[in-house]
This record gives sequence, C-alpha cells and structure tokens, in this order.
Amino acid sequence: MIKIEKSDRLNSLPPYLFKEIDRKKEEVRKSGVDIIDLGVGDPDMPTPLHIIEALNRAALDPANHRYPSYTGMDDFNKAVARWYKRRFNVDIDYKKEVVTLIGSKEGIAHIPLAFINNGDIALVTSPGYPVYDIGVKFAGGQTYFMDLLKQNNFLPDLGAVPKEIAPKAKMMFINYPNNPTSAVATGEFFEETVAFAEMNNIIVCHDAAYTEMAFDGYKPKSFLETAGAKDVGIEFHSLSKTYNMTGWRIGFAVGRAEVIQALGQVKSNIDSGAFQAIQIAGIAALEGDQTCLKETNSEYTSRRDILVDGLVNLGFSVERPKATFYLWIEVPQGYSSAETASRLLTEAGIVVTPGNGFGAAGEGYIRMALTVGKQRLKEVIERIGSVGF
Ligand SMILES: *Cc1c(COP(=O)(O)O)cnc(C)c1O
Repeated sequence: MIKIEKSDRLNSLPPYLFKEIDRKKEEVRKSGVDIIDLGVGDPDMPTPLHIIEALNRAALDPANHRYPSYTGMDDFNKAVARWYKRRFNVDIDYKKEVVTLIGSKEGIAHIPLAFINNGDIALVTSPGYPVYDIGVKFAGGQTYFMDLLKQNNFLPDLGAVPKEIAPKAKMMFINYPNNPTSAVATGEFFEETVAFAEMNNIIVCHDAAYTEMAFDGYKPKSFLETAGAKDVGIEFHSLSKTYNMTGWRIGFAVGRAEVIQALGQVKSNIDSGAFQAIQIAGIAALEGDQTCLKETNSEYTSRRDILVDGLVNLGFSVERPKATFYLWIEVPQGYSSAETASRLLTEAGIVVTPGNGFGAAGEGYIRMALTVGKQRLKEVIERIGSVGF
C-alpha cells in the first residue's frame, strides 16, 4: 500500500457545504419521507425531441466518431455567430471569436489557466457560481470577492474594489441573469464594467448561462452588446438550461479573439473537443424551432408565481425574478441560512440550498430552484406553512 496524499490544491478547497445537507437528506429519505428537492439547478423537463433526433442521426455517421476539432466544428461555431447576430445583434467572427466548450463549466474552470500566474488576483462575486473561485485557485491565483448586496440590486459595487486591488486584478467574473440571486444587469452596469476593465486592464468573463430563461417579456442583454465590451472580454454560454441539455455537455465562449484563442490553447492541451454528434445536435437547438423555449419559460413562469405568491403569503421576503429558475429568499428573522435549510429538510422534507454555500455574502438567504412541477410546488407551500417559522 502506498500512502495517498492529496495536493495542497485539493486540500485547500473550502469545506463542502452540501455534505451535511446530503447526509441529512439521506437520513430523512430513509425514514420514509417523500422529499421535494429544490436544491440543484438542473432542469426536470426533457430535451426537445428535434434535438435528440439530430443527435441520433449524427451518431450513426462514422465521420462523427473520430476526434473532433479542439475548438469546435466550423458549422457549430458558425451557428453560434449567427445566433449572436439574431439574438443580440452582435457581430462575431466564427473563426477567431468562438470556442466550443464541453459545457460552459469546463471553459469557466479552465480559463484562469490561460491568464493567471501564481498569486495573481481575480475579482469574483460573492455569492456566485462556485467554479469562478475554484478555477482561479486551481490556477494558483487569489480571489478578491465583490459582495452582491440587496441594496445594490445584487450588482457588484465596482467603485468599492480597493484602489490597491483593482489595478492588480487580471480577470473578473460576473454573471447576469444571476445564479443564485436571480438578479438582472442594467445596460448601465455593463457600461461601468467596460470602463472599469479598460481603466484597470482586466479581462471580463461574463457568464450568460441564463439569458434565454426570462419571463414577462423581459429579454436579457448580452454583455457584448455594450460598446467596447468585445475589447475587454468574453461571454460564456450554455445550451444546458436553455434547451434542457445539462447532461449533454455543450456550451461555448465568444468575444475578444486573443482571450478565446488562449482558452482554446489551454483546451487543446487538456481535452479533445466536444463529440461532433452533440455539436450537430447543438446546431439543431440554436437554429431549430424555438417554440420549445417559449413553452419551457411559460412553465417556469407559472411555477415561479405559485412559489413566490405562496412564500409572500407565508410572510417571506422574496423578489419575483425576471429571469433564471431560482428564488433568492431571505431567511426568517433569527435564523441562519444553514438553520433554515436544515429545518425545511427535517420538518418539511424540502431540500433547498443555504445561501452561504455560494459565498459568505450569501448568508441570510436560501435558494430554491423551480425544478419540480406545479402540484409539487403547491405542496411545498403547504408544507412550509405547517412548519411555521
Ligand atoms: C448551470 C450553470 C452553468 C454551467 O452550465 P454547463 O452545463 O456547464 O454549460 C454555468 N454558469 C452558471 C451560473 C450556471 O448556473
């Protein structure tokens, strides 16, 4: 037997906050409780049929069985460029300004390897998608957290980044519509971000995973619509949430050519690109009938309203989100995020995510994902009502 010693990299990861919840969840499940899981941001609805059929056809073609291009098929990257033009009126050069990803998480986790040297600083929001911070740390960098606070509509206060930090920062990660707060960005905030990045020479990475999951006629903007944005950064996109394709692993990044190409260079040394049949299915998703998207968003709208109305009736403080399938709910007075999540699980059989799992500034909140059907959400409200906070 040899002695197994994990790297400092793994040992220095923050403790896994969901471990305790996972353990309790198993315990509660074993005791026979019918658990309702609003914890994970993973769509419960199936991938639309025309996308699956495109995969089936492509999977039968031996030309797709070989190694794909590292940075994506021309056809997929062209479809991305056309989608950007159609959806955001942004011009993208498919040859230089697009890279295909094996899910956007893959690109987000790898991009710090292209720019971060030991000790370099990256600006990351708290709360935030945990991969930004971990990707930076895996690359040997340090994270400076910008808090997302209710009084700032959950947008980072760029002016509050200390004068000794901002010029040293090499990259920043932002994400709107936002997970976990469900906040949306204003055009003004994106303009400030471009100016801040120009002034401090910072590469902006905007995670736009939720631009298509929006309600009540609201159309989220791409960061790249902002004047000068393509000079300072890139945008990550994912087919996962838009087309119920989390399991397929397909996403992309677009923007400043040198940044995209450096990410491609990292990837060419690590992976060998996304399965071509999946890229072909991705083209079918981006270019096919978009009725599926309308239907999905209409379902999320109904779910959102059941849960928001019910929670407000029970005295909770929660905004009605314009986008994303998350509710960011203030915990009842006197409770921490963890205590609230724990009571909901043990007394109501409901799994939610404690806000501090997304960073220290998430304390005081819990996140619920709208990933179960309407009947179940009505039951969530009944169950929380009978717990009483
Ligand atoms: C779900 C999610 C992603 C990742 O999606 P992929 O499946 O890896 O494309 C990226 N960012 C945020 C904020 C997410 O919530």
